[in-house]
Order: sequence, then C-alpha cells, then structure tokens
Amino acid sequence: MKITNVSTAVIEGNFPWVLVRVDTDAGVSGLGEAYWGAGVAELVHKAKPLLIGENPVDIARLVEIMIRCLSGEGSQAGTTVTAISGIEIALWDLLGRHLKTPISTFFGGRFRDRIRIYADCHAGDTPDPSDYAAKAREVADEGFTAIKFDLDTKNPFTLDISDSAHPRRQWFEPFNRTIGSQEMNWMVDVARCVREAVGPEVMVAMDAHWKFSVNDAIKLAQRLEPFDLMWLEDPVPPENIEAQRHVTHSTKTPICTGENLYRKHGYRELIEKQAARIIAPDIPKMGGLAEAKKVADHADLYYIPIAPHNVASPIGTVAGAQVCASMNNFLVMEFHAHDVPWWDDLVGGGPTIERGFIALSEAPGHGLTLNEDVARAHLLPGSSFFGDTPYETTA
Ligand code: MG
Repeated sequence: MKITNVSTAVIEGNFPWVLVRVDTDAGVSGLGEAYWGAGVAELVHKAKPLLIGENPVDIARLVEIMIRCLSGEGSQAGTTVTAISGIEIALWDLLGRHLKTPISTFFGGRFRDRIRIYADCHAGDTPDPSDYAAKAREVADEGFTAIKFDLDTKNPFTLDISDSAHPRRQWFEPFNRTIGSQEMNWMVDVARCVREAVGPEVMVAMDAHWKFSVNDAIKLAQRLEPFDLMWLEDPVPPENIEAQRHVTHSTKTPICTGENLYRKHGYRELIEKQAARIIAPDIPKMGGLAEAKKVADHADLYYIPIAPHNVASPIGTVAGAQVCASMNNFLVMEFHAHDVPWWDDLVGGGPTIERGFIALSEAPGHGLTLNEDVARAHLLPGSSFFGDTPYETTA
C-alpha cells in the first residue's frame, strides 16, 4: 500500500477546521484534522511530497521524516507541528480502516468506552454572575457533568480599552497583570454563583487566559478554594515554568495549563517540575495522537491527569477521544462548539456527544464519515475541497 495523495479542506466552524485527507493506491483513505492557524493548510501541502509513495502504516517513521525535513519551516513547535498533527491523525484513521480496527486499539485498548466531555460555556449573557449561574444550569440540564467558564472576560470592573478597531480587546489594568479588588470580588462571585447553581455533582473549571501576575494569580486561586473547582486554567502566562510551579504549589485549587505547548519535549519541564496539577494538550495541534499518548504517559509518572483542550470539529474531537480512551489518567475533554448547530451534521450517524459523553463505537479508525454536502456548504471561502492546492487559485 502506498500513499497517493494528501489534501485539505478548511471548514468555517466557530474556528477554521483544517480537515486533512490521505489517499492510497489500495482505495483506503484516512481523514484527520489540524488545529487552525495561518498557513496550516499550506504546510500540509508542503509535507505532501515527503509522503507520496510511502507506506502509510509506518506512521512513527513518517512523522519523524516530516519533523526532520520541515525543520526549516519550524517543526519543533508551532503551525508546522500542527500541520503534521492533522496528517498523523489521518494516518491513524487510515490504518484503522485498513485493518478494520478502532484507533484506540493501537494505543493499548480502552480504559473506558465513554469519554467525558466538558462544555465550554464562555460567559453569561451579561456580567451579572446570576447569568453565569443560569447558563451553568442550562448546560448541566443537557447532561454535561463538567463545565467551564471564562473568568477574564466581561468583568464589569475591568478597564476596557476596546475601540472600534479592536472591539473584542479587554484587559485587566492594561499590561501589568494586576487584579483590582472589585475585579477580584467579581470573579469570586462568578465562581460562587456557578457552583451554587450546579451543586457538587457537576465539575466546574474556570479559565483565566494567561492574564495575571504570580502574586495575584495565587490570591485568586486561594479565594476560589471554597468552591472546589475542577481547575483554574492558565492564571499566569504560559512560557515560564518556574512561575507556573510557584502558583501551582501555593494553592489547593488545581492549576491547569498546556494548550500552548507542542510535542513531548514541550511538556517535559512542566511535567518533571510538577508545575501543573492537570495538563491540557491540544491533540490536533501539539503533535497528534501518539504524541499526546506519550505526554499522558509521562504525566502519569507524576500522577497528573490529562484534560485535552479541544476546539475541533467532530473529526478531531472523536479522533482525540479514541486516544483518550487509552489513557488511564484521562480526566475530561473540551467541547467548544456548543453554539454551532450543524456541528453534528458534519459527520454521518447520530449525535456525537450525548448527555455529556462521547460513546466510542467499534467502527474502524475514528469511526466517522464526512458529510460532504455539509462540509461544502460551510467551506471557508477560497479553500479548496481536497484539491491539489490549499486554496482555489484565482485568475
Ligand atoms: Mg484555555
């Protein structure tokens, strides 16, 4: 069996979903997904000559070839790794279809058939904490047993420097990362109201999007301790592991981070210094399924759970769920497309997420089939649909 083609289609979801298809001379194809990013589709096409004519079952070897040959494009971290992730996921799907085996089997089989999903709820309709509570109840009533809110947006006490050119840009006191007393009290109120709304049965996380100084992050995390959060995510910027470690070891609120990192090397120091209590790799971004499993196994040496960050379509989400099934230390996986009504329609079959869980089938590969009519209807303007170039060329 030889690879005959590698192609992409970018779907306009709540993020651009970069679908990646690998075809073979045996008539078997695999479908993967890469996290969005400028140039990701171009980089997939750049990798194509490295793959044509190769045996698609040699997945680890092909990934290593791409990492080495695309070093000039930046294959240690960033969008090149993301492009490789999408190809890697397509190769696992292809192998599964070829051997009529679900992907999870290739990673040691399943600890569980149902993958717990948390709903990213963003914010309340208004800054009133009771609106956050209402949304939390609504999502919990849909069956989700884990939810997350953003703590750093809509804060009515935040100095708003938005203007017509940058309408979404809000900052706490711009640039110095400090939290004022009113800002702090509002965040604590939001957490209290959400916890009271859903009770102890639902796990609640809060995301702070890398906003705060070490000292203010510790103060916030300690004030949130009574609400027994599943985690506080990214309270400080992501690049300083010592600072992460200091925050993590100064509070009983579990600190989660990891969506900015790439490949097993990117997570090494974070894990070995135990600088986070929970690690959140983005699987179609950080290197793909095998790399995520390596990170999970490394984290498990320190008994650290894994909670993947995820903004993918059903393809990337369920492919990620397949490898999560094989991680003993898997905790919960993100669902970010609550506001995309056609999310499920992109693939055949019934609802992908039911009552807050993905039920994995025994179907080959990741088990999903693309609904091409729906995919074409939501194709990003200018994107090719699995053509020879990433984008339609204009005359
Ligand atoms: Mg986050």
